[in-house]
Amino acid sequence: MMRLAEMSADELQQMLRHVRAEYDAIRARKLKLNIARGRPGEEQLDLSNELLSLPKPDDWITEAGDDARNYGGDPKGLVELRRIFAPILDVPVEQVVVGGNSSLAIMHDVIVWALLKGVTAIATPWMKQGRIAFLSPVPGYELHHNMCIEYGIDLIPVPVTPKGPDMKVVEHHVRDPRVKGMWCVPTYANPTGEIWSDEAIDRLAAMEAAATDFRLFWDDAYVVHHLADNSKPAKRILPACAAAGNADRPLMFWSTSKITFATAGIGFFAASPANVRWFLDCAKRRGAGQDKLNQLRHARFLKDAGGVTRHMKRHRAILAPKFSAVLQAFERRLAGKGAAVWTRPEGGYFISVDTIAGAAQRAVRLAGDAGISLTAAGSTFPNGHDPKDSNIRIAPSFASLEDVRIAAEAIAISILLAAVEKQLGINDND
Ligand code: PMP
Repeated sequence: MMRLAEMSADELQQMLRHVRAEYDAIRARKLKLNIARGRPGEEQLDLSNELLSLPKPDDWITEAGDDARNYGGDPKGLVELRRIFAPILDVPVEQVVVGGNSSLAIMHDVIVWALLKGVTAIATPWMKQGRIAFLSPVPGYELHHNMCIEYGIDLIPVPVTPKGPDMKVVEHHVRDPRVKGMWCVPTYANPTGEIWSDEAIDRLAAMEAAATDFRLFWDDAYVVHHLADNSKPAKRILPACAAAGNADRPLMFWSTSKITFATAGIGFFAASPANVRWFLDCAKRRGAGQDKLNQLRHARFLKDAGGVTRHMKRHRAILAPKFSAVLQAFERRLAGKGAAVWTRPEGGYFISVDTIAGAAQRAVRLAGDAGISLTAAGSTFPNGHDPKDSNIRIAPSFASLEDVRIAAEAIAISILLAAVEKQLGINDND
């Protein structure tokens, strides 16, 4: 197989005719498929339908003896639910807090509280410290970026390696006291899918940060979302930071959005005892309590940590064939051509593709014209700007397996066509 960069103009023209014909045949099928958002598919949601009839009609008293239908109870949330997730995340139950139905909402609140009040009772509010910045591994997660953009926090991109963020770049930037936070998705990162290495995590825990109020925003959204055997999540950040003398550095977030029901699940926060006190003190001004019935429902349904593991195996049985379908189509259509490289994640929700520079927007447009909605090219970069116009995020969970197969073929052809055009200097981006 010859790589595009090694082909003569004639060979490229010949390939262009061939790939265009294949693309036109796909477009003629007038497909309408969505591979854009990392939503669970319907079959996955069905796995949790028992939740719709929980708790049972006579079941509303919590383990602590509180009436789940009323105000009151532990501001940290139901202990029977926190006990399920504490061992999974390796955090003491006392340091786990339940917070509504979305981990992103908790991250948002934490940022706003840090801006307005500072990250501890004695810290200066971030908004009184001039312009501040967060480090963000790129490609990364659009909704992380958007929170910072919304509140005027600068984003400093950090390149991602197969072992996590480029730690030299991180260590360089945290010498600047303006840098107050860093986005971290340590297990099956969105969209790049890697698990951060122990070494990277130890360095994050131990590095010298100029800002004493620097925080790692540790979003472990995919901590139990394995697609392969013997998979292990990233090393635990709380003990690593505590051992390095930086116990208050990490703030952990996760949720059951992609375990049970998205937007009707449970969000969680965990951190050092001091950070948990700070969090609860901020949260008590936000309302008089959480949805304890939803917490009870989840505790009854998931039962214990083993229940979560068994449930995630059912997700895996549905998801893994969809990931394989994409990877097989890419292998068949793109391998050895030098048109793109892509990740082969062992968990999470995304496959990340890097086309040759300058071809991603065109590939996404071609796929769109053929009826396949993809995440907008560039959306994995702050402000939607991918300087190389190269990254495309593929989210195979939502469509049916058959649709994923068809879509993957169309995406691979679109990427190849865009790359051949780029190689020939044809500019169809306008
Ligand atoms: N964090 C990451 C990295 C995600 O990919 C997602 C889902 N796309 C979320 C958070 C969403 O979290 P939640 O539904 O708990 O707000």
